[in-house]
Amino acid sequence: MVEKVKDPVCGMEVETTTEFRSEHMGKTYYFCSENCKKEFEKDPHRFLHGH
Ligand SMILES: [Zn+2]
Repeated sequence: MVEKVKDPVCGMEVETTTEFRSEHMGKTYYFCSENCKKEFEKDPHRFLHGH
């Protein structure tokens, strides 16, 4: 069974097997698309802490 997690940028459920992933503060985050990944990497705190 594939584990599903939330894309912190758009809120979609994504599988942890996705190639769109990024590490931040030692934790791995997964994204639905290259676009969401780029948005996250521009400003991770905005998506993780809501500001
Ligand atoms: Zn997304």
